[in-house]
Amino acid sequence: MSPIAANLQAVRRRISEALQGDSRAITLVAVSKSQPADAVRAAHAAGCRDFGESYVQEALPKLAALSDLQAAWHYIGHLQTNKARDIAQRFDWVHGVDRARVAAALAKARPEGAGPLNVCIQVNISGEESKGGVRPDHALGLAREVAAMSRLKLRGLMGMASPTTDRDERRRQFSALRKAFEVIRAQGIELDTLSMGMSDDFPEALQEGSTMVRIGTAIFGARDNKEAA
Ligand SMILES: *Cc1c(COP(=O)(O)O)cnc(C)c1O
Repeated sequence: MSPIAANLQAVRRRISEALQGDSRAITLVAVSKSQPADAVRAAHAAGCRDFGESYVQEALPKLAALSDLQAAWHYIGHLQTNKARDIAQRFDWVHGVDRARVAAALAKARPEGAGPLNVCIQVNISGEESKGGVRPDHALGLAREVAAMSRLKLRGLMGMASPTTDRDERRRQFSALRKAFEVIRAQGIELDTLSMGMSDDFPEALQEGSTMVRIGTAIFGARDNKEAA
């Protein structure tokens, strides 16, 4: 078994342990930023069908080299309106929408022939200024705007907990995202995706109701240090 396949097996086991018998479906997004195309192929061979990338310039040639794979591509990086065209054309999902202007740019650039672009609104649950995302109390307003945009399909919310080792604090932050999700659903806006949980905190995220985890290093190993963000 390849190291990536072995890591995946361990991650899947930890996911099912965290679910504690709950049978809800979890989407595992293998975060392949800074990993070569061969690593993506190894993960695909081991059953991964969803992949996450954070840098448009790195992703475009990689997606082209892997266009033979049956896979869904998730853009999980920072969004700039000047990259909206490439993202809307090449990706299936975008997780970091936190402004109506960016959502509108993605909607405008989504090709007519493609299905709607799946979108998650990013909510800032850690309170860190440096992190993107709308304030939790602004999530409903933005959800209303995005849900009304054609060419986009609002799927849910995405959030990142602060990099603390305090498990209870992480759980509080994930729980706040779950609450924002429920508030929006209670308004009749259909959401099916709660995108939360990374290598260091996915068990807590799953315990708080995550339906989609985004996992990089626990599958592929450490990334080289060029990414600081
Ligand atoms: C890099 C990244 C991940 C994966 O992080 P790991 O700690 O390697 O699992 C998940 N989500 C986002 C938004 C990221 O930028």
